[in-house]
Amino acid sequence: MTPPNEQAVGIDLGTTYSAVAHLDPSGRPVTLVNAEGDLITPSVVLFEGTSVIVGKEARKAIATDANQVADCAKRDLGSRVYHKLLEGRQYPPEAVAGFILNKLRLDAERQIGQFKKVVITVPAYFDEVRRKSTQDAGYMAGFEVLDIINEPTAAAVAYGFQKGFLDETGSAREAQNVLVYDLGGGTFDVTVMRLEGSDFRTLATDGDVQLGGRDWDTRLIDFVAEDFIRRHSLDPREDPNAAGRLWRECEDAKRTLSARQRANIACDYKGQAARVEITREKFQEITHDLLDRTRFTVRQTLLAAGLEWDDIDRVLLVGGSTRMPMVSDMLRELSGKIADNSVAADEAVAHGAALQAGLALARAAGRKGRFHIENVNSHSLGVVATDPQTQRKRNACVIPRNTPLPVNAKRQFKTQKQNQKTILVQIVEGESKMPDECLQIGKCVVRDLPPDLPPGTPIDVRFRYEENGRLTIVVTVGNNGTELRHEITRDNTLTQGQLDRWRKYIAGTAVS
Ligand code: ADP
Ligand code: MG
Repeated sequence: MTPPNEQAVGIDLGTTYSAVAHLDPSGRPVTLVNAEGDLITPSVVLFEGTSVIVGKEARKAIATDANQVADCAKRDLGSRVYHKLLEGRQYPPEAVAGFILNKLRLDAERQIGQFKKVVITVPAYFDEVRRKSTQDAGYMAGFEVLDIINEPTAAAVAYGFQKGFLDETGSAREAQNVLVYDLGGGTFDVTVMRLEGSDFRTLATDGDVQLGGRDWDTRLIDFVAEDFIRRHSLDPREDPNAAGRLWRECEDAKRTLSARQRANIACDYKGQAARVEITREKFQEITHDLLDRTRFTVRQTLLAAGLEWDDIDRVLLVGGSTRMPMVSDMLRELSGKIADNSVAADEAVAHGAALQAGLALARAAGRKGRFHIENVNSHSLGVVATDPQTQRKRNACVIPRNTPLPVNAKRQFKTQKQNQKTILVQIVEGESKMPDECLQIGKCVVRDLPPDLPPGTPIDVRFRYEENGRLTIVVTVGNNGTELRHEITRDNTLTQGQLDRWRKYIAGTAVS
């Protein structure tokens, strides 16, 4: 039974900024400020001997101690190690995320007391491996992760709440199709949803986990660095600290350009200094292709949802980078609609996560929830099979992308030899026919097949995508339907033992 006073907490673990929200006693989502008094916390970690500093101070250190600072770890989730050494040590990216989540937990506990259960959000376009890494990061930070939900869905739920759709009386409201355009610091997501009273149904989703505000920053950095080279024959990008300083200047200028027509960027390196002026027009020109990538994805997603612009009632903007005027200009030109920025760009995702946490707790206590979410998978799931004609390996699709979740799919394999003991199922995610171009999720080795199976015995492998985009596998053998132990052996994820060690380590680190 869930204690009645259990807290419903949602975390938006962003590439560049994170936010935490909870439901107040009236059930309204409220953002919790961090120890520094801010609503959002930079997702940046500074390693300093035995102490680990997360947030604003760590972000400042990018300009002076770049080699000790980990940022954008979310972009590395799914890889075995974070892309650079930190004080000579390798860290798994989920451990870096674990430090961030731990700071968020401690800061939140100062206000609402101890809690364990959370909902964490992920980009809709996150693949299965990145979802698992996010859950693992939550575990390492001492949480029990109730659920992981998609960021655009969370934003839509927050929007629905704000508009009163989730009131007792709200369920009869007219259906709306909403396109959520979420451009954050490191990822881009676009999702088409149908909101019908308290039902939130995802129709299609697409995105790019390597596209975000950081790429716009990089264009500015390159612009200034090239100018600096012309003047002084020196490249400030060579030195990590000079590059860090320049990045902070450029990110600042980018924000200025959202409000004004021009900005100045100061750059100093090896005793030389320069001040470079940039106009909004020039900024748009040097980032045009990045914006075009998002435009292309928006079109594709609308097509995948089977809708036209006339069918879309609202274009919802989420993520800090949608504050760049070029975003709403492009969307207006593309859709003929004025984009809606009525949800708080920085907080909506955390608010939706808190509402989802409230729903999960209510369900666990046997109560009915206020709303219902239906999700789709963002990547096709397949198994590696041998083409009988060419003998080449290919990706045989089992569950196509944009299928409503949860979904079960069955695929039959046959034993080749008499008394075969194992069957190997290689699981991949992606749209390509070539397994090498897909993401390798891992292998499922079906062991302990019953003895003396004749060749050609059918082995059914059932894939189940859960609502949160996580995968489970059930194997049944022959016609008697014996269910077998099924484990996915993953290439890049940590073992339970490693997770437990990190959980202890993170809890014991001096965090400030
Ligand atoms: P994430 O969730 O990926 O961390 P956020 O949604 O918090 O991202 O957005 C952070 C990004 O938004 C950063 O790249 C930041 O530079 C950018 N950003 C924030 N405010 C503005 C602004 N006023 N103009 C342009 N970009 C902004
Ligand atoms: Mg975000």
